[in-house]
Amino acid sequence: MYNDPVRKCFLDPHNDFYGEDFVRAYLTVMRAQLGWKTSRTVWNHWCDGPTRQPDKCGTGCYARMELGLPGRDSDRIRANGTSSSGHWRVEVVSMEKRQSVALVVAGLAVFLTAARTHYLEQKRLAAAAEGFDGKRAFGDLQRLVTLGPRPPGSPALDKARRYIADELGDAGVEMSYDSFVATTPMGKVAMRNIIGRLPGVRSEVVVIAGHYDTARLPGVSFVGANDGGSSATELLELARVLSRRRHALTYWLVFFDGEEALERWSESDSLYGSRHFVETQRKDGRLSRVRAVLLVDMVAGRDPQFRPEADSTPWLRELLFSCAHRLGYRDAFPGGSPLRVEDDHLPFLAAGAPAVDIIDFAPFVRGYHHTAQDTLERCNPDTLTMVGRVVLAMLAELDRRLSS
Ligand SMILES: [Zn+2]
Repeated sequence: MYNDPVRKCFLDPHNDFYGEDFVRAYLTVMRAQLGWKTSRTVWNHWCDGPTRQPDKCGTGCYARMELGLPGRDSDRIRANGTSSSGHWRVEVVSMEKRQSVALVVAGLAVFLTAARTHYLEQKRLAAAAEGFDGKRAFGDLQRLVTLGPRPPGSPALDKARRYIADELGDAGVEMSYDSFVATTPMGKVAMRNIIGRLPGVRSEVVVIAGHYDTARLPGVSFVGANDGGSSATELLELARVLSRRRHALTYWLVFFDGEEALERWSESDSLYGSRHFVETQRKDGRLSRVRAVLLVDMVAGRDPQFRPEADSTPWLRELLFSCAHRLGYRDAFPGGSPLRVEDDHLPFLAAGAPAVDIIDFAPFVRGYHHTAQDTLERCNPDTLTMVGRVVLAMLAELDRRLSS
């Protein structure tokens, strides 16, 4: 309709007044098409012909009609007519202007709607991210680090396990152990995953996981503040926050034992806890309920660089970075090309469950990974808070996407 600014109607050249009626009728239809309501209609007709009287001449008569639209003079349709030329021309004078105004108004409406949706989504995401107390999580981290090195099978890891179980109990989280004996290069080692279950309205599961053991590094007093400590304390604080929330999906908080190699990292000497957990869940038929796995590892370091992990499921990785960016953490989550790291997400991926590894690559880059420098001094409660907020936002998004 807007692409046709000039409209013509042919009239009896010797009967202006018949023509006038026709134009009126035509414009009535056109107005209805355009959806315009007029506030006034003015017909002017005059005669340049021999009689100078438009109602008597029939030759050289002109007429002009203005349809006033509310509010502005420019919004007019002008109809010109001449009997001498034998036709009438109905010209919509301000059509182009109206078109651009209409486009601007439509564009503005789209923009405002999008802005409002964006604002509400941001508000919802920010609300979902509330409640994670990084200082309290840092307190947990101090307690774990005080226990010293916590490799699989060690008395210190026993103490860490009891601490985690007590804290889960205090948070009102239903807890169980997944105990097994791993065959390692050092012989049989008893290991225990800790599982906290937070039932949702639905039976589909999101696994939030990390490891609580530390690497066994002979000759090094490796307390694993970031590597092993931070993932466990991150999960503990998430348990406290999530236990007070209603959620559609069911959450399993899984603390893996034996993530680290006992001698040298290999397919068989690593990821003991996650491999065992995935295998038992698969045999029990419960793995099919797992819709997403969010793995946290090394989430307390100062000046972290959370890069996309190459093996992680693309849609979950995108969700991670979009949540982080929407919460304003672009510096710590810079994106870029994915980097690969072997971690507890791999057994899930191998079994077909979508998983993402939320891992800080800075310790590798700065060279303190698996060294005596992985201490509390290199950790920061703010990083725990940031990752906690990102995970909470992801959970809210997953709840919305997967339960609708
Ligand atoms: Zn490690």
